[in-house]
Amino acid sequence: MPDQMSSALQKLKSDAELFLQQEVEPRELRIAGGEDPVELAAEIREVSKLAGYYYKTQPEAYGGSPASVLELTMLRELWASANAPLTRHIFGPGPGLLHQAQGDLRSNYLEPLLAGAARGAFGFTEPDDALRPTWAVIDDDSLVITGQKSYVTGGETADFLSILVNVEDSNGGKLGTAMVVVDRSAAGVVMDKTFSSMEGGGHASFRFERVRVPLWHVVGELGEGMPRALANIGNVRLMVAAEAMGMSQWAIQFVSNHLLAPHRTGIPLGDKEGVRLRYAELRIQTFAARSALYRAARLVDEAENSVNEVIAAKVFCTEVAGSVVDWAVQLVGGQALVVGHPLESLYRRVRSLRLVEGANDLLRLNLAKGDLELGKGRL
Ligand SMILES: Cc1cc2nc3c(=O)[nH]c(=O)nc-3n(C[C@H](O)[C@H](O)[C@H](O)COP(=O)(O)OP(=O)(O)OC[C@H]3O[C@@H](n4cnc5c(N)ncnc54)[C@H](O)[C@@H]3O)c2cc1C
Repeated sequence: MPDQMSSALQKLKSDAELFLQQEVEPRELRIAGGEDPVELAAEIREVSKLAGYYYKTQPEAYGGSPASVLELTMLRELWASANAPLTRHIFGPGPGLLHQAQGDLRSNYLEPLLAGAARGAFGFTEPDDALRPTWAVIDDDSLVITGQKSYVTGGETADFLSILVNVEDSNGGKLGTAMVVVDRSAAGVVMDKTFSSMEGGGHASFRFERVRVPLWHVVGELGEGMPRALANIGNVRLMVAAEAMGMSQWAIQFVSNHLLAPHRTGIPLGDKEGVRLRYAELRIQTFAARSALYRAARLVDEAENSVNEVIAAKVFCTEVAGSVVDWAVQLVGGQALVVGHPLESLYRRVRSLRLVEGANDLLRLNLAKGDLELGKGRL
């Protein structure tokens, strides 16, 4: 049993590798040949539904067949190791912050989200110059929201935003945080600007000017906003770590091919000892980081408290991937930085992983707190 993978997991992996070869790679070639990427992305969603991957991120109650965290980790890593943009469309949308939504919230937002009929985006980050974090005041059976969210991925095309707010009663009494669903088209929601980041993501910043939403738009209970955001973020962080490890593997394979190929000096770069030392380091770091990733995934599946281990995996895997891709560029040389080279775009994409889903140094602080103040975490 290599890598302590059960035979079922090994079968899932070999089937998924075949799916990449038969369904994703030919369509990537068609995109390179000038065909419409949007149409081919839609095709990938359809073939993924047939193969069952699409439903692995969706709850059973909505027709999904959710995979274990270990399975999802393995698949995310595998998709990323293909370094193929179409792999983004293999998994269907997950419930994210709405995972326990009930009643109208469930029928009006969660169900259309999972069916692919509506898009949601998440607003947590606030501008550096915000005078006060976004707040909401209870007014009868409504919340009146005021504030800003500065970095909402997919905000421009989202139908609704899930945002974190601080709630007050009508006398200014503090009631804690809440996660609230706000229609992007609601009166008082102002999209200030749209922008893109270097890895290719599209984002928007929003102002909320006394936006009135009914109280049933609160996900869960008032006061539960931050714990809900954090409960959801753990698995997302693990998926970031898995993506980082897929990127590392792709970069190492690329470097390996380059080192074995002829070089203008007459000696392949892979025959030079100094280069071999660098190359070995990429493999050692990736081996260690993948071990951490899979150990963390298994702990999550055991339903043990694994917040600190997931943080450790996210921080370590994203930093290793940053270093691996950086060294891959160095070993391949100037060609790797030519715009359009696959390492050039990987270099831009890997950078964002150290900031998304919690800046790495803030996660380090959380990990230290988990140990020193709460007695949580393993070595
Ligand atoms: C590609 C991408 C997509 C994103 N998508 C979303 C999204 O959909 N929704 C959303 O809400 N946000 C999103 N973000 C924003 C992201 O969550 C934030 O960038 C991240 O949480 C860091 O917050 P910040 O940018 O405000 O930096 P700051 O919080 O200002 O921190 C900047 C740096 O200061 C240091 N620092 C700050 N505080 C401390 C401290 N207490 N101790 C030690 N060091 C500290 C750290 O080095 C940190 O990296 C996205 C960001 C990126 C890059």
